[in-house]
Amino acid sequence: MATSDVHRDPYAILGLSGTSLLTQAALKIAYHQALLRHHPDKSKSPPSSAVSLDILRSAYETLSCAPSRAAHDQNSKETAPRPADVVSLDELEEHDDAWTLGCRCGGSYRISVEQLENDVHLVGCGGCSEVVWVGYEAVDEG
Ligand SMILES: [Zn+2]
Repeated sequence: MATSDVHRDPYAILGLSGTSLLTQAALKIAYHQALLRHHPDKSKSPPSSAVSLDILRSAYETLSCAPSRAAHDQNSKETAPRPADVVSLDELEEHDDAWTLGCRCGGSYRISVEQLENDVHLVGCGGCSEVVWVGYEAVDEG
């Protein structure tokens, strides 16, 4: 039974096609549908082939927590490094159209206003391959 891939990918466990645009509401619905699908009383398949409820819950928790989901999304892309640090936008230096943060390599991380508006949280260093996850509230368009 080649189910190991499914068990590694929280998106697959919850029956989702991987997307970083997944909303909390959609995630919750998918989780509940997966719970019903895999519930021992409601599933037609024998319990041995069902995904355990623990696996479902941990998949849900991975995807519902923004930093861990970002880390998962990054890790699932082979070339992308995992974030070295989680920082708040408050910790960055504000400029006219971007925020920057010094990296230990001497370079800096830079997140632009446009990236904020596009809900981009993972920012790469200009001088090395490190990335950080920048936390902030959604930018208010008004
Ligand atoms: Zn660097």
